[in-house]
Amino acid sequence: MDPKPKKISNNNKKMIHVLLLPYPTQGHLNPMLQFAKRLVSKGIKATLATTIFVHASLHKANPTTTNPNHHHHLSIDFETISDGYDTTGRSVSGIGIYLETFRVVGSRTLAELIRRLSESGRPVDAVVYDSFLPWGLDVAKGFGLVGAVLFTQSCAVNAVYYHVHNGAVLVDEGDDVKGKKKVVSLPSLVPLQISELPSFYSPGLYPGYHYLVLNQFSNVDKADFVLFNSFFELEKEIVEWMAKLWPVRTIGPTVPSMCLDKRLENDKDYGINLWQPDNDICIKWLNEKSFGSVVYVSFGSVAKLESEQMVELAWGLKNSKHYFLWVVRESEKTKLPLEDTLKLDEKKQGLLVNWCPQLEVLGHKSLGCFLTHCGFNSTLEALSLGVPLVAMPQWTDQTTNAKYVEEAWGVGIRARPGEDGIVRREVVENCVKELMEGEKGTEIKKNVNKWRDLAREAVGHGGSSDKNIDEFVAKLAPL
Ligand code: UDP
Repeated sequence: MDPKPKKISNNNKKMIHVLLLPYPTQGHLNPMLQFAKRLVSKGIKATLATTIFVHASLHKANPTTTNPNHHHHLSIDFETISDGYDTTGRSVSGIGIYLETFRVVGSRTLAELIRRLSESGRPVDAVVYDSFLPWGLDVAKGFGLVGAVLFTQSCAVNAVYYHVHNGAVLVDEGDDVKGKKKVVSLPSLVPLQISELPSFYSPGLYPGYHYLVLNQFSNVDKADFVLFNSFFELEKEIVEWMAKLWPVRTIGPTVPSMCLDKRLENDKDYGINLWQPDNDICIKWLNEKSFGSVVYVSFGSVAKLESEQMVELAWGLKNSKHYFLWVVRESEKTKLPLEDTLKLDEKKQGLLVNWCPQLEVLGHKSLGCFLTHCGFNSTLEALSLGVPLVAMPQWTDQTTNAKYVEEAWGVGIRARPGEDGIVRREVVENCVKELMEGEKGTEIKKNVNKWRDLAREAVGHGGSSDKNIDEFVAKLAPL
């Protein structure tokens, strides 16, 4: 299916202007920002519209972004819209109320922004909106603009949600019967056990998030482009299957260019942090360690571990006898009892930080493997930098990502929980040892390097994602 965007009002002399609308969390901001950088590198003018709350947080956390009209050496403009929670960033009444308020206030303030940009001589030609914000398309179409949706989770995960949306995965399939694991088989996907489905597939514990992920498909048929932060080679069967439904284009991995094709000068990091990273501490500590000797541990920006899990993880890491660098966000700190923390540090085996420069850490020569929650950005970053994974998924898309990490892509092993849902210390220890010392580790390293090379090719000149971005850009040019 070929996208036929409406003829857009622009004249030949003016640069095409794309307004990008990310969902306001770190894992969604990063891909949108990186896509903006790629567009700029291809002669497009890009403006990133973050919420007022995120805009304020970014400025506090990262002094290099103090000029709202400039990002690093790439001229990306920053503008704001409102989600209705300008000072708190979140509704205390839960995700459902937050999303509805964001839809109402966001639609209005996005429309005001588009009008304001037009009046100030910077008319917008196209809106790229996060799939979590489908109303972005309604606003774009209200102005007769091209509307492109960007999915920041994997094609596999979204294929599952699409099937659920269509009623093809029944909610009552959620029960494994008498200990026998049920398997869900869906077109183009590997067979998935219930625990391997993305966790919002059923309203279960998270009705608000269930609504959010299904609502991504409410108007997707009307989008001019359906973009994915993935690359064709990584999810070939699923992309081909989805391409029968929509004008799908994979444009990832949206990882800074210096980690991949190195074509965008100075594009070393995302450059936007919602927390201040402990850069110097991490890099100094890593510099003192020998080649491939460190396990990096992080559960991303949102996941919360139970206290018991934190303790098991801490002992598993300690018992592995390998060095580890562990990101424990401030809000998670109290879950690691002090006595355990102290014992950990007897031999300076572990370094705990609040937030780290993850790309620099993953690319560091001392790194051996990454024990991760399998957020899709973290997964793609590890893959792009050739780092083997110990997968310890918690919720949302991580469960499915972990399945693909281990079985489809062969870039890691899963640290499996027991019946009580806790991954025990012996499991952590064994997984780390297997990757750092065992034959399995060598085989996985080979696989991950293969994917690293394919990821580089995809975003490199003439690669699958590069061509897709070129095509997107070409379709925005005046007819
Ligand atoms: N990240 C980081 N420093 C940290 C931990 C994470 O910069 O200490 C970044 C990481 O590089 C990734 C993002 O935060 O780009 C997390 O996104 P992901 O999709 O992996 O997980 P989420 O936070 O959405 O669960």
